[in-house]
Amino acid sequence: MTSRRLQVRFKAEAGGPSVMRVLRAVALLHLLLPLFVLAAVTYRPHIRSWPALAVMAGSTLVFVLCNTRDFRRLRQGRFEEFAPWPALVEVLLATTAYGSAAVTVGLHGDAFLLMVCVPFLTTSVMGNPAMMTLAWVATTTALAVDTGLQVPALDAVWATALFAATFGMVGVVVDMIVRGAMLSSDLHGALANLASQAGTLQAWPEDLLPLASDLAAAMGVDRYVVLSADGPDRPPTPVLWWPEPGWALEGAVSDAATLALAQDNPPATGGLEARAQRTTTTEVVVVVPARLRSEPVDTTLVTTAAALLAAMHERALLIGGLVNLANTDPLTGVANRRQLFETLQLELARCGRQQLPLSVAMIDLDHFKDFNDRFGHAAGDRLLRRFSHGVRTRLRAQDLVARYGGEEFFLVLPDTSAEGASNLVDGIRSAGAGFDPGGGRVTFSAGIATWDPAETVDELVFRADTNLYAAKSNGRDCVVSRP
Ligand code: GH3
Ligand code: MG
Ligand code: MG
Repeated sequence: MTSRRLQVRFKAEAGGPSVMRVLRAVALLHLLLPLFVLAAVTYRPHIRSWPALAVMAGSTLVFVLCNTRDFRRLRQGRFEEFAPWPALVEVLLATTAYGSAAVTVGLHGDAFLLMVCVPFLTTSVMGNPAMMTLAWVATTTALAVDTGLQVPALDAVWATALFAATFGMVGVVVDMIVRGAMLSSDLHGALANLASQAGTLQAWPEDLLPLASDLAAAMGVDRYVVLSADGPDRPPTPVLWWPEPGWALEGAVSDAATLALAQDNPPATGGLEARAQRTTTTEVVVVVPARLRSEPVDTTLVTTAAALLAAMHERALLIGGLVNLANTDPLTGVANRRQLFETLQLELARCGRQQLPLSVAMIDLDHFKDFNDRFGHAAGDRLLRRFSHGVRTRLRAQDLVARYGGEEFFLVLPDTSAEGASNLVDGIRSAGAGFDPGGGRVTFSAGIATWDPAETVDELVFRADTNLYAAKSNGRDCVVSRP
């Protein structure tokens, strides 16, 4: 516990322009300290203590050397070498230098006591509370020594207490201001990152995951839930819980989401704030805690995040729709050739890796030209639609039915042996491809091929086609699965 409290750290990671700015502020002391040494040496009659001058000159020299080295490192981008403890030691060196200056030439009113406190202030710009506390203790000690050596004890106590308390308070205020500025720069960074990623998001909610922590930073919260619905009249469902599922009750989250959808700026309910954004294609709700560490959450940021997420979701839906369109046969709604070959390639690779069998089937409706001639093209279209949907319902989730061409369909059956494929396809065949308007049974023929791992996609398709041709030659309404 104690060691944790005493962990001297920077306010933020030592990197980038903010550290440079802090160092520049610290370097102002750079300029003043050597000037003091020079002034003290020049006006020798004013020197009251030569040992104090030696301490002042020595600590100034070491401070200037350390500070110069810091600058060189930072200018070369070696931020990791700028460590909190050495930075604190430099602050203590500067405090010592100002403290000994006050002993060297006297207090001159309270001017030197003011200066003794200045190095402490730099820790409230760059350091964590532990760094600030240690620097404050050192400053108070320097004040006590300076005044104790030069004024009556009671005055010394008063002056030390007054300066230590005043500067302690100023330090705390500076700390709060710097923290606030850092928080808003974190927010800006996170928002900029989110905005630039928003344009590349394709899969919702999968692509949201890499942005999840930025989203938390952009809203200034450490917990949230994103809910979305594909369309304005569907209930939104949770798609992202951060940092882990179940930080709030699911019922409370959906109550808050429902309220946010009904009202633009709903009041907090059940300790939760929710903000919704609607477009014609999507609804996105963000639910966050109403308060964090007893401070209310900034709901404007939550609204902005919801708007950004809605834009991302809309885009993902649009892209998903386009991909779907590009992969779907418009007449039947099953996969088209493009998706067929993509799936075949992937499934062959997967079954190869996992040493699973894979079978395919080429199906061609029998005498379909006659069907069209007798019952019309529209009836033919209807039959193609019904047949392909019927086949799809008989397949497992990992199987694929694609329209290969006019009245030709293709099945991809991963993890299926030649025998399994024959049984399945012959089962479908015995049920028939459908019925014509006159009640006649429409039949189909099929060729099956089971993948030989030495074979390419084209060779496999060619074998299925050859077997289909054999089935047609055999008199149709049959399945051939010759190896
Ligand atoms: P086979 O038993 O030898 O397969 O005879 P078939 O008549 O089915 O074969 P063919 O290849 O000669 O004719 C295919 C017919 O399928 C031609 C065309 O009228 C029909 N067809 C192709 N695409 C469509 C479509 O999108 N809609 C409809 N209604 N018919 C189609
Ligand atoms: Mg044909
Ligand atoms: Mg045909």
